Amino acid sequence: RGKRAFIAGIADDNGYGWAIAKALAAAGAEILVGTWVPALNIFETSLRRGKFDESRKLPDGSLMEITKVYPLDAVFDSLEDVPEDVKANKRYAGSSKWTVKEVAETVKDDFGSIDILVHSLANGPEVTKPLLETSRSGYLAAVSASSYSFISLLQHFLPIMNPGGASISLTYIASERTIPGYGGGMSSAKAALESDTRVLAFEAGRKGKIRVNTISAGPLGSRAAKAIGFIEKMIEYSYVNAPLQKELLAEEVGNAAAFLVSPLASAITGSTVYVDNGLNTMALAV
Ligand code: NAD
Repeated sequence: RGKRAFIAGIADDNGYGWAIAKALAAAGAEILVGTWVPALNIFETSLRRGKFDESRKLPDGSLMEITKVYPLDAVFDSLEDVPEDVKANKRYAGSSKWTVKEVAETVKDDFGSIDILVHSLANGPEVTKPLLETSRSGYLAAVSASSYSFISLLQHFLPIMNPGGASISLTYIASERTIPGYGGGMSSAKAALESDTRVLAFEAGRKGKIRVNTISAGPLGSRAAKAIGFIEKMIEYSYVNAPLQKELLAEEVGNAAAFLVSPLASAITGSTVYVDNGLNTMALAV
């Protein structure tokens, strides 16, 4: 039987989530997607109208199939957590069952189980502000959307994950070394995500024989990264300074993710794996 993957955090064909979906589809997995509620309409419309057909192409020439797209807002765990103004918001009112708990229940009703859980989402409303100028609410929002969202997803999906399965998330080196400009508590959120990867690897390993790893990815000009404002500079910096002087392709991160969630990586858990052309190893720009 092929593996089934749930990938949270795809809303277009530019980001790491899309590339991971493609790598998993190319390896024969069935693809389920969780898309942020406010982005759902345009993503589904674009899919339906064939806007992504070119980038759906897999190495064998076939097109990646997405079996189902689920609306998801990973900052809400269950319906009781949703404030009235969000419930009343037009974009949210048009969909239902998009809290983490409800999505996991719906996936269970639809398919019974999954093998692979991918977390490819982050959000920090004050990301452009230095940490020193970040508000408490901005900081907590960054951690809620970018770190706790992974705990919540794993908590709710673990009961329907087949033993031997695996999860993966995406992190960034700003967690361990200062990257001026990656603000709003996003550096803190990534540090939490990496630490949680180790603790959750222990807990999910013991509880459900599930592996938990995170990829520390190099810079990619995704929609989220463009919102931060200095991504072109980071891409250029990496190109100039990394051991491998080449563009980092989303596909390379997708392939590494596919390896890490596959049986080829059956003894790897709790790890932060760099997929960044080696940039993390450099201490002196030359
Ligand atoms: P992206 O825009 O493709 O993905 C981010 C996704 O998160 C979007 O689809 C967005 O709709 C979704 N999202 C935001 N808030 C959400 C919420 N509350 N609930 C559900 N979904 C929500 O951008 P990306 O850069 O590919 O980001 C994917 C992951 O990769 C993130 O964790 C990011 O921090 C990480 N990452 C990116 C880079 C980079 O340079 N782009 C580098 C290292 C790590």
